[in-house]
Amino acid sequence: MNHFQYRDGRLFAEDVAIAEIAAAVGTPFYCYSTATLTRHYEAMASALARVQGRICYAVKANSNQAVIRTLANLGAGADVVSEGEARRAIAAGVPASDIVFSGVGKTRAEMRFAINAGIGQFNVESVGELDVLNQVAIELNQTATVVFRVNPDVDAQTHEKISTGRKEDKFGVDIDLAPELFQRATSMTGIDPVGLAVHIGSQLTTLDPFREAFTRVAGMVETLRAAGHIVTRLDLGGGLGIVYDGEVPPEPDDYAAVVAETVGDLGVELTFEPGRVLVGNAGILVTSVIQVKETATKRFVVVDAAMNDFIRPTLYDAVHAAAPVNENPGSDTQTAEIVGPVCETGDILASDVQLPALTENDLLYLKSAGAYGAVMASSYNSRQLIPEIMVNHAEFSIIRPRPSFDALLSLDHMPNWL
Ligand SMILES: *Cc1c(COP(=O)(O)O)cnc(C)c1O
Repeated sequence: MNHFQYRDGRLFAEDVAIAEIAAAVGTPFYCYSTATLTRHYEAMASALARVQGRICYAVKANSNQAVIRTLANLGAGADVVSEGEARRAIAAGVPASDIVFSGVGKTRAEMRFAINAGIGQFNVESVGELDVLNQVAIELNQTATVVFRVNPDVDAQTHEKISTGRKEDKFGVDIDLAPELFQRATSMTGIDPVGLAVHIGSQLTTLDPFREAFTRVAGMVETLRAAGHIVTRLDLGGGLGIVYDGEVPPEPDDYAAVVAETVGDLGVELTFEPGRVLVGNAGILVTSVIQVKETATKRFVVVDAAMNDFIRPTLYDAVHAAAPVNENPGSDTQTAEIVGPVCETGDILASDVQLPALTENDLLYLKSAGAYGAVMASSYNSRQLIPEIMVNHAEFSIIRPRPSFDALLSLDHMPNWL
């Protein structure tokens, strides 16, 4: 359920007509709905209340500070994977103690920043990283609270590029090495080891991989305890899938039931790092038609958004439903391919879409573009990054403006010999 709905054939975000935003800011743009963000956060929070789970929103899904603050105001902490994301979360109002720092390659500078800022938890992914973090913490006369991200060797049954929990993936330490890491950390004055973390991938549409991974983690907690270690915290990551195109992802309550069943009796504090499930369906990408181009075999609708603005279809073969902003019920539909102006054959936003007759300036939108959309945008082909708009009831705000061409060009500096 989201708050992008038609009223008399015109698409609205909550109580704001999309066409009104398009007229005010121009296309293309991302549009997010506060009510939808709130709804999705509350669905997760109430499901996870049964296991007293803490939600640390995975900022990489959508790191606009207005999005982070909306979720933080509802009670979310943050999961970050870089100093930049940590700075965004703090600037958006997340207390540093409610931030967890994930990621396979934290630099010394990032560790220094995070320790000085008082980041609440470090998810450590290798022995080498543990040693460096210990050194940095000792230099700063501090102790870093650590959980070890383990790789449980579970196939998340999702797209190749978003699977993270198989042995051959770069993430985490082999789960069987957890006792060694705990042992090593116990003698480190800069490290306070408190538990384990696991995140096996993204856009999971079945619960079985979660059940398998959480069961292995629970087994390891028992092993660690039997060896005399104190384990008080588990971070179960994110990964819950959403509906893009007919998937039937698990309900938050069913996910929480798997959590309860697998780790509920361990008496540990639980942290979750949902990203996509909170923001994915809370955003759309609005674009206008530049040209309709008929070739011998295809009907290409060339629009003003492109792969640089939204790379999921190209990168992950993601399918995003597309539709006109203004419905045209009388019109026959035809199969079309929605493509952008970027000089790449892969610049396809949606294939085999049924669309009515369209002409220049007609507005289209792609659904479920709130996660891994704006955050992955680039200015390839020297295109301006596109604006982000947030709607709240009858109001809307430009939460990231379109940069000027001057701003784009001024990023380059001439060397003095030219
Ligand atoms: C990307 C990521 C998440 C969020 O994943 P979603 O599928 O968006 O829920 C959570 N934790 C870690 C460590 C991640 O890398």
